[in-house]
Amino acid sequence: MSDKVTPPVPEYDLPEGFVHVYSGKVRDLYEDPHGRLLFVASDRISAYDWVLPTPIPDKGRILTAMSLWWFERLADIVPNHVISTRVPDAVKGRAMVCSKLDMFPVECVARGYLTGSGLVEYAESGSVCGVGLPPGLKDGSKLPKTIFTPATKAALGDHDENVTFDEVVATIGQDEAQTLRRLTVAAYDRAAAIAAERGIILADTKFEFGLRPDGTTVLADEVLTPDSSRYWPADGWEPGRAQPSYDKQYVRDWLTSPASGWDRHSGEAPPALPDDVVERTRAKYVEAYERLTGRTFR
Ligand code: ATP
Ligand code: MG
Repeated sequence: MSDKVTPPVPEYDLPEGFVHVYSGKVRDLYEDPHGRLLFVASDRISAYDWVLPTPIPDKGRILTAMSLWWFERLADIVPNHVISTRVPDAVKGRAMVCSKLDMFPVECVARGYLTGSGLVEYAESGSVCGVGLPPGLKDGSKLPKTIFTPATKAALGDHDENVTFDEVVATIGQDEAQTLRRLTVAAYDRAAAIAAERGIILADTKFEFGLRPDGTTVLADEVLTPDSSRYWPADGWEPGRAQPSYDKQYVRDWLTSPASGWDRHSGEAPPALPDDVVERTRAKYVEAYERLTGRTFR
């Protein structure tokens, strides 16, 4: 674990019998009195591998609602870890009861468009995670077909690292690696088609899978949120430059602008977010939820 992230302290007043088991940058995990997992999304926001000192109000509820909406739409492709949304009042709306899984140590990324770390790798090698791509692609280009570009799960505060399919095979075996690749691509393709109907491009996304005790491979974690995905308004899409987006880019841009006074290579913690940055970031999460689901966020 690097010293970049202070492990967050859970802040919920849960009934007796709930035991805190883990806190990541954004989520707090508890075991409930029945041995199941209470999966809580906080309002914390992370950027550049730091947890920012300022939370985004309602973010945890928005991300939970979005994940649940997507789990339903993928349910015929892959079973998921959700058991119930009946949770203690202290975490109402921001939590779900899930089955506790043996997680695969692989970030299962699917990409339909080239950007981010994929673009960096492509520029160096013409391929991403060992998948060869045609020449001449630009930032934001649509790929000929969806590609599986796995990454290793980094410890808190470290970067995830892109790996090849063969490296995944070496870690979890041929059969499971093929299953995760197939499910990741199928789930991405389904989600991208649904998003497209709403005028939104799902450029890429990251899934996590785990094993149930009976050996079933199950979709876990959060799914298809702006924290795990790149969503672009389709009408603003223009390959050859950075795309406007519904993800955390707004916060990232502010952090790296002179206004923040922060040097991200300094090793120092990022500053508090001003109120207007908090409000605009919250508005982006709400807009992504409402545009995708057609529902009003309350
Ligand atoms: P980050 O997502 O910020 O890079 P992180 O993944 O460590 O960091 P969180 O997303 O905040 O942190 O925490 C969620 C954790 O719960 C992840 O480690 C994820 O692998 C794990 N997880 C998700 N679903 C399950 C499940 N059903 N059973 C067990 N662990 C799970
Ligand atoms: Mg996570």
